[in-house]
Amino acid sequence: MLVVMQAQATEDQVRAVCQKIESLGYRAHSMPGAQRTAIGITGNKSEVESGTLEEMPGVQEVIRVTKPYKLVSRDTKPDNTIIKFPAAHANGSPVTIGGPALAIVAGPCAIENRDQAFAVAERVHRAGAQFFRGGAYKPRTSPYSFQGLGEEGLRIMADIRQQFGMKIITEAIDHESLDLVEEYADMIQIGARNMQNFSLLKRAGRARKPVLLKRGMSATLEEFLMAAEYIMSEGNYNVALCERGVRTFADHTRNTLDLSVVPAVQRLSHLPILVDPSHGTGKRNKVTPLSRAAVAVGADGLMVEVHNQPDQAMSDGPQSLFPDQFDTLMEQVRQIAAVVGRTVPAIGVSEPVAASK
Ligand code: PEP
Ligand code: MN
Repeated sequence: MLVVMQAQATEDQVRAVCQKIESLGYRAHSMPGAQRTAIGITGNKSEVESGTLEEMPGVQEVIRVTKPYKLVSRDTKPDNTIIKFPAAHANGSPVTIGGPALAIVAGPCAIENRDQAFAVAERVHRAGAQFFRGGAYKPRTSPYSFQGLGEEGLRIMADIRQQFGMKIITEAIDHESLDLVEEYADMIQIGARNMQNFSLLKRAGRARKPVLLKRGMSATLEEFLMAAEYIMSEGNYNVALCERGVRTFADHTRNTLDLSVVPAVQRLSHLPILVDPSHGTGKRNKVTPLSRAAVAVGADGLMVEVHNQPDQAMSDGPQSLFPDQFDTLMEQVRQIAAVVGRTVPAIGVSEPVAASK
């Protein structure tokens, strides 16, 4: 159920409706919009008796949401969600995901050591990335492959934020790592392999940091949106989606990047969606063309793997761009962004925290 408030409803009226919903034993999710506030109701096993709510001051209507996903739906919130990250220092501008500026996330697959991470960070920052990615906890197919540096990797990333002012995005693979990622990072990544780890999704929903949810490798659009619904149902409304390719019979690429999911998501949901052409193709030579396509199709940003020495990378070397290639990607993406009415941050826009002192 969804309670749509009148455009002129006061905050007190919204609060009273939320309290009423909670007193009935349900959960209320207040979603302010440009025109009016909507309040999503979850936790109901059967239909909520709408009569009492309908009669409350400030309520315009109470509607049944027939789709399985409620909080992620545009019916609940017609305006796009814009996730805002505080500026690195008082004079800096806030970084967003979902607004007119494309969110550019770049960095190595895994944080391998301090020198490698800083070398990549320096280059992607200079090229205009506002977000630095890198795994400290790696979900690897083989237990014998590099599993990540753990907390040491998180510390290195926190130092990178301090040095370059970029926001940090890194994956949590279980409850234990999520506690630490929440502490160190600016955004918590839930990987493809965990898209339907419902207990982890609920834990992410109770986190105080935004979540980047990657599409499972065989997830339908509905399963993808329902995974986001799990996170939002726990009260965390700062969720961005990420298309990273699905498994098909095609074997010329690692996965098949499903760019059609971008407009499909945008039609149904207010959540921003990024595209990861690195895992989406698994091949370095396809990352730049598909980055151009992702921006053209209307993605809210890109997640790209970059390594200073891809041939020696401990994971995903073949799909990692050389820093010079990332520079070219950014130049090309900048031109395409202008055509679709988006902007790309100027070179080195995120300001070092250290420099502000
Ligand atoms: C990653 O981004 O490093 C990663 C492991 O991606 P995915 O979960 O999409 O495979
Ligand atoms: Mn990777």
